[in-house]
Amino acid sequence: MAPITKECDYLVIGGGSGGLASARRASAWYGAKAIAIEAKRLGGTCVNVGCVPKKVTWNAAHIAETIHQAKAYGFSVQHTAPFDWNSFKNKRDAYVTRLNGIYERNLGNDKVEYIHGFARFTGKQEVEVTTDDGSKVQIKGKKILIAVGGRPALPDLPGIELALTSDGFFEIEQQPKKVAIVGAGYIAVEFAGMFQSLGTETHLFIRHDHFLRTFDPMIQEKVTAEYVRQGINVHKNSEAARIEDIGGGKKRFHYSDKDGESSVDVDEVIFAVGRKPEIDGMGLENVGLKLNEKSHVVVDEYQNTNVENVYALGDVCDKGFELTPVAIAAGRRLSDRLFGGKTDAHLIYENIPSVVFSHPEVGSIGLTEPEARQKFGDENIKIYSTGFTDMYFAMMEPEDKGPTAYKLVCAGPEEKVVGLHIMGSSSSEILQGFGVAVKMGATKKDFDQCVAIHPSSAEELVTLK
Ligand code: NDP
Repeated sequence: MAPITKECDYLVIGGGSGGLASARRASAWYGAKAIAIEAKRLGGTCVNVGCVPKKVTWNAAHIAETIHQAKAYGFSVQHTAPFDWNSFKNKRDAYVTRLNGIYERNLGNDKVEYIHGFARFTGKQEVEVTTDDGSKVQIKGKKILIAVGGRPALPDLPGIELALTSDGFFEIEQQPKKVAIVGAGYIAVEFAGMFQSLGTETHLFIRHDHFLRTFDPMIQEKVTAEYVRQGINVHKNSEAARIEDIGGGKKRFHYSDKDGESSVDVDEVIFAVGRKPEIDGMGLENVGLKLNEKSHVVVDEYQNTNVENVYALGDVCDKGFELTPVAIAAGRRLSDRLFGGKTDAHLIYENIPSVVFSHPEVGSIGLTEPEARQKFGDENIKIYSTGFTDMYFAMMEPEDKGPTAYKLVCAGPEEKVVGLHIMGSSSSEILQGFGVAVKMGATKKDFDQCVAIHPSSAEELVTLK
């Protein structure tokens, strides 16, 4: 059977947040003939095995905390049954499936042709897509976007096949009684907080004294200390050694730390130690595409690769921000530039806010204190910080009170806010608005001139001394 051949203005490989945003804008706003290819499920990491099911699980964990705290406010909430992980998981899966359908309909509404299959470059402007039934489609794209995202990385350890990654986390059918989580970034910290709140005995293995080490030291220290206070078993300065199957679905996780070799028996071992680009088998070598040492596609600030008319964005590219909204923003701007005549449209990769859905939440934008000191010099930096107990906890016993901590990093005589780091309830919601201010170049005086909203936690950010 002769392969089907197609041609289009914009061929988007990868149906995740970035690719879909770019394809839809190109087609719906600018009338480009766009084709989107996805090998797995529409929506990519965020919708299927990332932000969306994570946030729903975080909400469940948050409710568990609220039920526990309700007593302090005079409610007598009785647990008549433990958290029903399995029915929650099934509902969460159904929600994600609904979203997959919505994403497909949105493509149709915006006149983007969708092909489910695996794309491989056969030439600089051409890919071959192998569809589900094994047939081949040759597609020529005047412009091609690589937006295939990434997948979890795993270290090479004996028994590593027994471990789960973040993808596997979302397949767990029954709530583990005890888990070992290895890693110190967003995912490990979010998972550890959720498991602990939902009542799973949680062991978190980190290689240093603190986790979230890319964040401001205040965040690293305070969130690590808070996790220890909450009863999470944080195994500091530890290293994963091997995993053993001990039967009955249980695993023995071996690790080393300052006391030598030890082990812990758990229901699940989860590794969250970073991600890598999902480029295997794509034939990128066929077009001479430049990759960095970690196999990310090298792009300039306009998402151009070294190959003319081939672009990349999102987790597959080397910009270092593996965040859904970054991919979406870059994708829309790219289409504005390629098809909308906005010749300078591009995402500015600085002052990008991000949040960790830890317990409590963390929000951060701009430079950490050490980064600012290095960039501007100690004498040009002024730090404003505070730590306090949110009024929400006023009714609670000391052991149920959580910390809140805020820091502003200001630079120069005008005290421009170059970094803002917050830990505490609702940090994700608080940061969005303050992010606008920082992006606009607000100074400490601008913050002070905004009247406080009382009583709230965020008001502390406009009354810092
Ligand atoms: P991260 O890059 O955030 O963190 C991984 C960390 O794990 C490393 O920084 C390192 O920290 C530690 N690590 C690396 N190798 C090992 C090892 N062999 N043993 C133990 N620890 C190790 O990766 P994640 O997988 O957590 O997340 C991937 C990305 O996904 C994030 O960078 C983020 O951009 C995105 N994400 C965003 C979320 C959000 O916006 N809320 C939520 C989830 C993910 P150290 O050097 O301290 O040991």
